[in-house]
Amino acid sequence: VRFHDLFLPIALMRAIHELGYEYCSPIQAMTLPYTLAGHDCIGKAQTGTGKTAAFLLTVITDLMEHRLPEQFAGEPRALILAPTRELAMQIAEDAKSLTKHSRLKVATLVGGMDMDKQRKQLEEARLDILVATPGRLIDFMNRKQVFLDQVETLVIDEADRMLDMGFIPDIKTIVRATPKTEERQTLMFSATFSYDILNLAQRWTRDAVKVEV
Ligand code: AMP
Repeated sequence: VRFHDLFLPIALMRAIHELGYEYCSPIQAMTLPYTLAGHDCIGKAQTGTGKTAAFLLTVITDLMEHRLPEQFAGEPRALILAPTRELAMQIAEDAKSLTKHSRLKVATLVGGMDMDKQRKQLEEARLDILVATPGRLIDFMNRKQVFLDQVETLVIDEADRMLDMGFIPDIKTIVRATPKTEERQTLMFSATFSYDILNLAQRWTRDAVKVEV
């Protein structure tokens, strides 16, 4: 499948072209036709398969196609959860490259970094994509500086590592603060599909397409 054939927004196609991507990787070819149509998805994919672009293209297309007349500070329309600071920062970098020809705003909230600097990103009356690690996001939610009730798309990346690192209680708190399952799109990725992961996916997704590469 060529990106050209997916009918993505022009500003996004330009960014994809500049990154030199022409053909979808297998995980992208298997998920995008469903996720671009709004379906939930659980994908079994390791790092290096192109899973990041698979969910980012979905998120960005949705945001570009449905503009909101008004947005308020600290209210992201897409939330991407990652287990580590390094992974979250990499995802945010990729999101910035892919949104560079649009006005979409990307913010990052990760542990071990200055909270004041991170808070500044939330003060603008526009925040489209928030990439976060669970603990730091909860700190900001508790301080009432981030509100998740406008989240249209929720991505949980490396769900198996989230489980191993003990983040599931935090993620439960976060998911509860987002709109109901029927009112949001949820994409989950994991390198393994253990019983526990599939159980969580069952709770957090709805009629999800299950994809393995
Ligand atoms: P990931 O599995 O998301 O960590 O991505 C692995 C690498 O593949 C990243 O460096 C991406 O920039 C790159 N990549 C993702 N999708 C494509 C594609 N369709 N064509 C070429 N490179 C890609």
